[in-house]
Amino acid sequence: MVGSPFKEGIVGERLSPGEYALNFSDLHPPLDHHEALVEADRCYFCYDAPCMQACPTSIDIPLFIRQIATGNPVGSAKTIFDQNILGGMCARVCPTETLCEEACVREAAEGKPVQIGRLQRYSTDIAMAQNRQFYERVAPTGKRIAVIGAGPAGLAAAHRLARYGHDVTVFEARPKAGGLNEYGIAAYKTTDDFAQAEVDYVTAIGGITLEYGRALGRDVHLADLTATYDAVFLGMGLAGVNALRAEGEDAAGVENAVDFIAELRQAEDLAALPIGRRVVVIGGGMTAIDAAVQSKLLGAEEVTICYRRGKEHMNASEYEQELATSKGVTIRHWLQPKRVVAQFGKVAGIELEYTAMQDGRLARTGETFVISCDQIFKAIGQTFVPVAQNGSAPAIALEGGRIQADAEGRTSMPKVWAGGDCILGGDDLTVSAVAQGRDAAESIHRALASNGRA
Ligand SMILES: Cc1cc2nc3c(=O)[nH]c(=O)nc-3n(C[C@H](O)[C@H](O)[C@H](O)COP(=O)(O)OP(=O)(O)OC[C@H]3O[C@@H](n4cnc5c(N)ncnc54)[C@H](O)[C@@H]3O)c2cc1C
Ligand code: SF4
Repeated sequence: MVGSPFKEGIVGERLSPGEYALNFSDLHPPLDHHEALVEADRCYFCYDAPCMQACPTSIDIPLFIRQIATGNPVGSAKTIFDQNILGGMCARVCPTETLCEEACVREAAEGKPVQIGRLQRYSTDIAMAQNRQFYERVAPTGKRIAVIGAGPAGLAAAHRLARYGHDVTVFEARPKAGGLNEYGIAAYKTTDDFAQAEVDYVTAIGGITLEYGRALGRDVHLADLTATYDAVFLGMGLAGVNALRAEGEDAAGVENAVDFIAELRQAEDLAALPIGRRVVVIGGGMTAIDAAVQSKLLGAEEVTICYRRGKEHMNASEYEQELATSKGVTIRHWLQPKRVVAQFGKVAGIELEYTAMQDGRLARTGETFVISCDQIFKAIGQTFVPVAQNGSAPAIALEGGRIQADAEGRTSMPKVWAGGDCILGGDDLTVSAVAQGRDAAESIHRALASNGRA
């Protein structure tokens, strides 16, 4: 549980039920029919479609927009799902402002791109509401594939493999599927239990067995899986979190931002979720923004993000930074945590030190000050936790702290592929995890078709 004085104080009285409902409602409400037609009409259907080239899953964007414009949203959804079976979630969470919409020619021409993400949501929502399934499994091949992790990478891989007639067993450590779609993405980006609706939609193809509470390295082992399955796909994401490396960070009230968000995403009553009055978030990426914004929306009085470099170095896009400031979050730059100030074992403040670039390197300046706070969230990056390999299998090669994989997702171990956040070279986005899961599944299928075994 997240600990804070607020927990013992006015937990239930921070906001009214109506304010919670409003704060955590859809960030971008869906387009209605008329709005979708008007927006689709803005597309030039460019022959070279720079938007499509900027999409990690290479969705045929001009085609799906034309299908909306011609009154065929279900056909449009099929165009999207052909490339990205999690197109519904990606429509909600993709940072389109740095992907397809940044590349849209209307962005360059008039600073107002076609709203590709919202159009994608329009058609995928229609198809999913009708439970229109576009793919049937081909005749069973008798091949069995183990997938580790039911996040975007694992689900995309499982769906593509099931389409080819293979039998897929997904081993998932948590009690629910969806990965960070269920436990990480900000609540206001995916409302109404959409993550679980999407899991149901994806697995409805058949041939996919989900086993919950089954962790690789604890309940199942790689050596056994490679011996009993024809291929293995690893999509276990990043389970570790970087430490603050500040004195006193064990004090009560210093929490991992990802744990806080996971708890928030699973909370039945947001009013009962403890949050500090004054919250400091350390980090500069999407997780820092999400933790800060959701703290504010839960009723925290002051929320400050502290980042060790400048605004332009933040991993969070400019749009995300503006979203945070529009919700009342303060973002401060060139600050590094030095010491957690604790009273009676609980956080009472954080001492920060100014940083500066010196000879091309980030350096501490020695100048410090304290922000009073009763909660600190660490959002300074997640790390891959290597899985114990039960002794009998050779260790899988890592690179840069993550699993080494080639362009098709093949790892150093025969019969083992990997994709998503756990491999090196991704950009830690939902859409990239989907692309890598899908492409690894294609590679596994090719290997099984040519060898009989991978
Ligand atoms: C707070 C936060 C907010 C984010 N917001 C966005 C956003 O708005 N837009 C965006 O594009 N991206 C966002 N991301 C990034 C995005 O969520 C990830 O890039 C994406 O989920 C990666 O998918 P994955 O399948 O590789 O891993 P995950 O989604 O992490 O899924 C991995 C799955 O494997 C399971 N698992 C782990 N270890 C084991 C094991 N040993 N055995 C069995 N199962 C295991 C996990 O329980 C999990 O279900 C966010 C990330 C975070 C942390
Ligand atoms: S770049 Fe913009 S205008 Fe051109 S096809 Fe893509 S969405 Fe349409």
